[in-house]
Formats: sequence, structure tokens, C-alpha cells
Amino acid sequence: MNPSDEIKTKLDIVDFIREYIPVKAVGANFQALCPFHGEKTPSFVISPEKQIWHCFGCGKGGDIFSFVMEMEGLGFVEAVRLLAPKAGVTLRNISPETTSRRNRLLDIMALSVKYYHHLLTNPVGEKPLNYLIRRGISLEIIEEWQIGYSPDAWDSLSSFLATRPVEGKKYSADEMVEAGLVIKKDGANRYYDRFRDRLMFPVYDVTGNPIAYSARINPDKEAAGEKVGKYINSPQNAIYDKSKVLFGLDKAKNYIKAKDLAIVVEGQMDVVTCHQFGFKNAVASSGTALTTEQISLLKRYTNNIALCFDADTAGQLAADRGIKEAMAQGMNIKVIIIPNGKDPDDALRQDLASFVIAVRDAKPMMDYHFDKVKGDLDLHLVENKKEVASKMLNMISKLTNRVEADHWLKILAQTLEIDENVLRESLPSENRDRDLVKQIQNKSAASRPREEQLSELLLAIINRFPDFTSYVISKLELDWLENESLRSFYKNLIIYYNKTSTLDYLGFREYLVTEGGGLANILDRLVLLGEKDFYSYEMENVQAEIIKILVELKKYYLQKQIFAAQKKMAEAEKNGETDKIKEILEELKSLTDNQRNNQIS
Ligand SMILES: [Zn+2]
Repeated sequence: MNPSDEIKTKLDIVDFIREYIPVKAVGANFQALCPFHGEKTPSFVISPEKQIWHCFGCGKGGDIFSFVMEMEGLGFVEAVRLLAPKAGVTLRNISPETTSRRNRLLDIMALSVKYYHHLLTNPVGEKPLNYLIRRGISLEIIEEWQIGYSPDAWDSLSSFLATRPVEGKKYSADEMVEAGLVIKKDGANRYYDRFRDRLMFPVYDVTGNPIAYSARINPDKEAAGEKVGKYINSPQNAIYDKSKVLFGLDKAKNYIKAKDLAIVVEGQMDVVTCHQFGFKNAVASSGTALTTEQISLLKRYTNNIALCFDADTAGQLAADRGIKEAMAQGMNIKVIIIPNGKDPDDALRQDLASFVIAVRDAKPMMDYHFDKVKGDLDLHLVENKKEVASKMLNMISKLTNRVEADHWLKILAQTLEIDENVLRESLPSENRDRDLVKQIQNKSAASRPREEQLSELLLAIINRFPDFTSYVISKLELDWLENESLRSFYKNLIIYYNKTSTLDYLGFREYLVTEGGGLANILDRLVLLGEKDFYSYEMENVQAEIIKILVELKKYYLQKQIFAAQKKMAEAEKNGETDKIKEILEELKSLTDNQRNNQIS
């Protein structure tokens, strides 16, 4: 048995989920309020028998691994590592998981980090090392962050990696390319190192595995005015998704929790300097915009974010989608304003005291934005009043806290000398962004088209009552199902049923897994839906229910066909194609006849 299966047999999913959220027994299953989206009535269902879970509100679901991955933001391998000790399972190095492709990429990255770090602390890296030390970075920090140096050569790293690992299958050039360390020359079978003559800042995932690099140009080269990018970064790949990583979070997370504040800076150098000077709760967004994923990463540790960007960037922050969403989720966002427009790195090294004060006096995002919007405008002029009102009302409409929104309406009214009620009436009522957040939060089953819900219900019923499978297969046509993935699920169900004459959960699931894709997840969802909605159904009612759904699905299907034919008809009439018109008329007649006699027995 492989470790992940062993873990599954030893840990009970209900007990495990209960450690995170309260769960309640309902029928044969357990239900809970979903921890992944806001809701007031439970749509999160756990099946102790099948050891799976699904939320019918936000659509997430899976087994114990997907739960812990979602909850803790881990990859599969990390989830295995987290659950193994709880289950009393020892992981041996030879397990399939640890030799997986992903793991090899992680190993290659870890090895490259050691290699580059070694070079930085050796003669070849003397100048770059001195540069770091001149910038006030201590040897301890260089060691802790494993900062490195990639030499000015085309094949330094690739030749080294080609001889590794010492035992077992050596790393191939393609694997190095996949890890983002090596580039394949166009049209030729030649490879070269991506990073040359650069200071290497490893980017770690939240559990501390190096997954990418941010590589800074050698300061000597920069001084000589060579025209190459100041920073180049690893490309996105199987282990690295830029939008889901915050630089430094692996080291900062505990400090963020302890201080209940995350300082977000712009660049890697800024983060390292912040940590050097004791601001160990600093992370970098690696780019100017904060993504939704990055915000939710931070939200695990704190509700308070202080942004410390240079003045130009900070000005645009308020318009950021990530920031808007964070505000809509009720997070407190502040802006650290560094005097004299310095960047955090310079400020820390030249004037630590003023940086400390700037952090302490960070301005709430709304205040900051208000100051920005007002600027030096003469607020007696009506154009200026209009402009300020429009920009501020836009921000106020995003505030989910009514007290806070009210507070700002009052201030705006006073500043502009405009009646508060007039402003209130001018608030953008239909706010797209907030609707978007709402949509993400309550993408409920009810918002999906009825045809799709019916399609799911029908497939859920036969998984709950497999005796009716052959009946449904004989009546249900593929095209009646709404949604491509459900159709593909149904196709596979037919194949499996014809092969085995049964529809047993474990066997069918295994079959779906070998077919790849997400079909096994659909099965889990349908099975839980069947148990949730049809748990107490009597056998004699099942067929009636199936017929009811079939009739309705067929009705929707025919309606769609009729619409399509009518559209074709209008087209043909416009073009005067008499033959075609005749043909479509026949088609329409047969469709409407069919609709009139829509019966299933
Ligand atoms: Zn949910």
C-alpha cells in the first residue's frame, strides 16, 4: 500500500475535519458550514463511509488530502508529509510520491540553491558578496535565506546538475528546463543556464521549499551600464505560480501571526533588509499588484496589512483588484508613508528611526486615498467637488462595514460642504466589484441553470440507486445533459456499466481515475449529492423521480433545438434560400411534435 492510501485508511475524515470546524450528523452523513466560503446554512457534506467531502455551495470537494491542501494551502506532497505523522505512517524515500515529477523538480531547485549559495561564499562570488555586505546584509541573513551567486558562464549549473543525484537517475536537461533553471536554444539541441552573473534570491513556498528565483543583476555590471534586466525571475511552472507566492512568507509567517500585522514591500532586497533590521513580518508581492491568492495567503495569519511601496506605486494601489477585494472582505489595509520618498531599503539603512515611526503611523487605506484624491485641489470649485465626490464614493461603496462607510460619507460631506443625503443617494448602488466578491463567496447551486442542476440530480440518483442505471441509459440521450463535463462523465459511466454491469463506487472511481481528468471528483460530488438529496427515498419513488427529471431535461433540450432552428430559419429567409427554408420547416415540425408528445415511460 502506498503512503497516501495507508494514511487514508488510518485517519477518519470526519474526526480530522472536526479539528477545524464543528460538524453535525445528518442521516448517514455529516454536515457543516463550509470553511471555504461564507454561508449561513450548511452545504458542506462529509461521507464517513466513502471518506470524501463536498461543498454544494462553492463546489470544492475531495478526500482528506484535498481538504488539508485547501485548508492549509499545501501541495499534495506537503499534505502527505503533514498527515503521515498523525496517521502514524512513516514515509520511506522510495515511495511513488517522493519520486514524483514534482518532487524531482523540488529536489533540483534545492540542489541549485545549495550550489549558488556555495559559489557566493567562495572566491568567484567575492564581489557580489561584498556588495550585499555593503548594503548591510549580514552573513547570518545570507546563510538563512541561502542567497547565492550564478557565475558568468553558460553551463555552470547545468554541468553540475547533470552529475546529480549521486545515486539514482541523473537529472535530465529537460527536467532542468522544466524547473526553469536552463533554457533550450531555439531549434537546436543545445541548452544553457538561464541565470548568469546574478545575485540569486531563492523564492520559497510557504513551507520553505525553494521553488523559484528572483535574480538581480551583478552590481558591477549595473554600474558599467550594461543593458540587461535588473531582475529576472523564474518562469511559471509546475512548482511555481507567481500569483500564489509571497516572497519571504515562509520566514515571516510566525512573526506576522505574533505581531498581527504583515508588512508588504515591493522587492526582494526590501524584504531581506526589513528582516535584517528586525522587521521580520515583512513579505514582498514580487510585482506591484497584490493578487487575490496572495491576500488569502496573508489572511491565514492576520487581518492587518501595511503596504510599504514607493510613492508612485502606492498611488495606484487603491485601484488594485486585490486590495479592493481585501477591503470588501473586511481586512484592514494601511499604507506606510516613508518620508522623502525613499524606498524601504534605503530608508532602513539610512534612517532606521524614521522607518520605525513610519510603520507605527501607517495610514488607513481610506485616509491615504482621501488625501491623494484631494491633493491640492481647490474644493470651492464645483468641478473639483464633483471629481473628489465621484472618486471617494466609488471607494466608499466598496466598504462592507456600514459604520465605516457612514463615517466616510460624513467626512466627505463636511469636506465638500455637500449635504450628506445627496452623497448617499449618489453612491454607486450596483457595485460590480462587490458583486464579484459575493459571486465568489456564494457561487451557489441555485445560480446555475436549471438544466445543469437536473443533469446532476439525475446522475446523482443512479449513483445512489445503481439498480436504475440500465433504465436511465436506455432513456437518457447524451445531448440532453447540460455541461460538457457531465456529458463526458455520462459517456464513461455507460462504458463502465456495459463492461461490468454494475455501478459500484470504488470500482467506478478507480476506472475514472485511470481515465484522467477531474471525472473522479465529479463522481464524489454526485455521490454526496445523491446521499444528501435522496437519502430517505423509497425505491418505488425513485423511478417516478427519474422520469420527472428525464421529461424536463428533454423539454429543455428540444426547446434549445427549436430556438436554434428558428435562428437558422431567420437567416435562410433573409438570404431567400427556399430549399433550406423547406428543410428547416420539416425539422421544426418534427421538433414541436416531439415536444408535444414529450413522454417517458
Ligand atoms: Zn463552500
